[in-house]
Amino acid sequence: MKILVQKFGGTSVSTAERRNQVVDKVVKALKDGYQPVVVVSAMGRKGEPYATDTLLSLVTEEFKFHNSLGVDLLMSCGEIISSVVICDELNRNNIECIPLTGGQAGILTDDNYGDASIIKVDPKNLIDIIKSGKVPVVTGFQGCSKSGYITTLGRGGSDVTAAILGAALNAVEVEIYTDVDGIMTADPRIVKDASLIKQISYNEVFQFADQGAKVIHPRAVEVAMNSNILLSIKNTMSNSKGTLIGSFSSQNQNKIITGITHTSGRLQIKVRYEDNLGNDNYKSLLDILARNSISIDLINVFPHEKIFTVDSNNKSAVDEIMKDLALNFESIDDCSKLAVIGSGMRGIPGVMARILRVLVDEGIDVLQTADSYMTIWCLVKSNNIQKAINALHKEFHLGIY
Ligand code: ADP
Ligand code: MG
Repeated sequence: MKILVQKFGGTSVSTAERRNQVVDKVVKALKDGYQPVVVVSAMGRKGEPYATDTLLSLVTEEFKFHNSLGVDLLMSCGEIISSVVICDELNRNNIECIPLTGGQAGILTDDNYGDASIIKVDPKNLIDIIKSGKVPVVTGFQGCSKSGYITTLGRGGSDVTAAILGAALNAVEVEIYTDVDGIMTADPRIVKDASLIKQISYNEVFQFADQGAKVIHPRAVEVAMNSNILLSIKNTMSNSKGTLIGSFSSQNQNKIITGITHTSGRLQIKVRYEDNLGNDNYKSLLDILARNSISIDLINVFPHEKIFTVDSNNKSAVDEIMKDLALNFESIDDCSKLAVIGSGMRGIPGVMARILRVLVDEGIDVLQTADSYMTIWCLVKSNNIQKAINALHKEFHLGIY
């Protein structure tokens, strides 16, 4: 069997015109001799009738807080509607298909509602459908717990569904269809002349995904990498070849930087030893935050100071903890963590200095930095992010691939 998983994101299934283009992609896969397995997201984005956020707005905060099982059931409805509507569309184009929930597709998860982890996939049902000559149309973003309840896999989880099915079915490739031509050197909504990255390694794309580029879920990249399944990102609305993701090195070996992304909504915390003399909690602060499930990053620990960032959503929890520990601290809200990514920067001196020079020339304060073998991070105020990314994109000539 030559199985091809084709995943269509929210915007790709949002209008009748787009759904026609989805049909074209499935028809082409069939014509090319593949057995397609279609995975769909909920239709449209926030505000549109069946989008996940719209469904969520139907219940109270109180309900959401106390009834995670019910919230998952509600959130799963968007994909269910989408899979049936796509089946109708395919049927009208003489393609026989079967709509399936995540559970019916064999995806077993734990019962961590809202962010469930996949325990295993039993593809028997899917294989039977494929063998009968029909196309399975699977709801993305969901699975089923051992006790039979519908669970969801976290935002962007339809990508994970596609990758996990690709791995379970030993697919030739997993195609992720979206509203851009593929992975670009920067989010095209931020940088007008961002260019398409035609080929990229799992490791590098994982950095993009993990550091805020919404275009693919980091867990989907992990799953594909572990099973050595080819992934590609393509545009539903064009015939562009998109971005191919595999275990090969990126196409532009001579480029130091592959692309730039960012994570917004960071809160910087600074705690000084001098401001907390005689308070033993100063030493154990990071452990205490971890015990309270607050994840921290960009951690700089000096003899007289600890600096780190947390998600801005944790602001009130952190304020509370610091109060309990009687620790004095300073914080800066509305920060964004810029990530400059490129396996080509390995062993090249002066990349950080070049980045800092560009940001200083633009009059942007850099609040913190960190680096690893293929990523350099700079923390800046969020109102500077557009300017910062555009300036760095230009400095490293990313617009002219
Ligand atoms: P879908 O609904 O199809 O899953 P998403 O909104 O999750 O689509 O992801 C696609 C979006 O990701 C694009 O519209 C684009 O604005 C954004 N994006 C962020 N960074 C990048 C990048 N480096 N390359 C391409 N798209 C990016
Ligand atoms: Mg997505």
